[in-house]
Amino acid sequence: MNLRQLFLQHVAQTSAFPLMLEVETAKGMYLHSKDGKSYLDLIAGIGVSCLGHRHPAIVEAAKAQLDRYLHTLVYGEFVLAPQVQLAELLAKQLPDPLESVYFVNSGTEATEGAMKLAKRYTGRAEIVSCKKAYHGSTQGAASLMWPKDFTQAFHPLLPGIRHIDYNCEWCLQQITERTAAVVVETVQGEWGVRPPGEGYLKKLRHRCSEVGALLIFDEIQAGYGRTGTLFAFEQYGVVPDILLLAKGMGGGMPIGAFVASRDVMLALSDNPILGHITTFGGHPVSCAAGLATLQTLLSTDYIQQVKPKEALFLELLQHPAIREVRSAGLWMAVEMIDFEFIQVVIKRCLEAGLLTDWFLFNDRSLRIAPPLIITEEQIRWACSVILNAIDQTAKARNLTRSDVVR
Ligand code: PMP
Repeated sequence: MNLRQLFLQHVAQTSAFPLMLEVETAKGMYLHSKDGKSYLDLIAGIGVSCLGHRHPAIVEAAKAQLDRYLHTLVYGEFVLAPQVQLAELLAKQLPDPLESVYFVNSGTEATEGAMKLAKRYTGRAEIVSCKKAYHGSTQGAASLMWPKDFTQAFHPLLPGIRHIDYNCEWCLQQITERTAAVVVETVQGEWGVRPPGEGYLKKLRHRCSEVGALLIFDEIQAGYGRTGTLFAFEQYGVVPDILLLAKGMGGGMPIGAFVASRDVMLALSDNPILGHITTFGGHPVSCAAGLATLQTLLSTDYIQQVKPKEALFLELLQHPAIREVRSAGLWMAVEMIDFEFIQVVIKRCLEAGLLTDWFLFNDRSLRIAPPLIITEEQIRWACSVILNAIDQTAKARNLTRSDVVR
């Protein structure tokens, strides 16, 4: 059997239609496949490769750490330089009182840890989350998910979860003295990039403070420069009690974190002690890569270039079949007529050497979330490929202008 057959035979699948690209190498903006083709990566491994693939500073830092030590002991016992330095640098970028970092391995683990912390700190059980939110696939995080299409088959999940509409101000009354925490994506991602409405996050902050609920911002996808600032919440004048990070944080290595004040975080180390533990959380190689990622983002102007690059995408992505482009920095949902249309567009883009995708809760939108290092020339090329794919798809389906325009 060849590698593709072995992949289907022995690697557990998440759907019946995997992309099946056989990756040979990856560098910068490109993935190179076994058959010698190159693909411009417009989705950054779903928000992970913020500095592109194998950024030299990240590779060098990870290699240097490989030569020092790998795993030593479970999280939280030893003083490990890459971990301490990353926590310190992160804390420096965050407003008070966010200064205590609990390292984990993934986004969903950050969500789980934060949910437990909020319950332990407040002594309350109820958690509020927003409809069309995605916070991870483990059972606690999956309980926050709505619609239930993806979770129904796994019920019962956690009791005591209340789902409210995102961006709905009167719904905030459902946050009460029984609420331990509200978990919300600063910008909703998998619903197809929905930024918060004017003043919404401030009102949410106010309501949480009023009833003593902790406010948890999930920036697992929105963080690390994606929206034009290191953290998306900086643009809305609101500080959460707990911040969730992962994806871009390791620049291609697995790592996540939840960050809170020292006062809040102390609740996890006491009564019971060891109430939340992890073997691999804050792995030294991931932390070394994470430190290099953050240092590079802070010492270059990639984040400052996000808004002008977003503007260029928006200027170029004009077509009668494009119904709407919603964006938050280098994070865009290009809405078209239906899933079948998008599916063909994605396939044609792939054939032309451009990797795109759709969204979990929005299969009518094309996902654009490239590494922040994408150049103007690459943006122009990518948009021309997308527009061309749209043209061809409309033609093949015999769609006229009045079919594609709502
Ligand atoms: N929260 C958000 C907003 C996400 O986008 C994701 C991943 N798509 C997660 C949580 C879960 O992260 P992970 O896949 O690393 O568990």
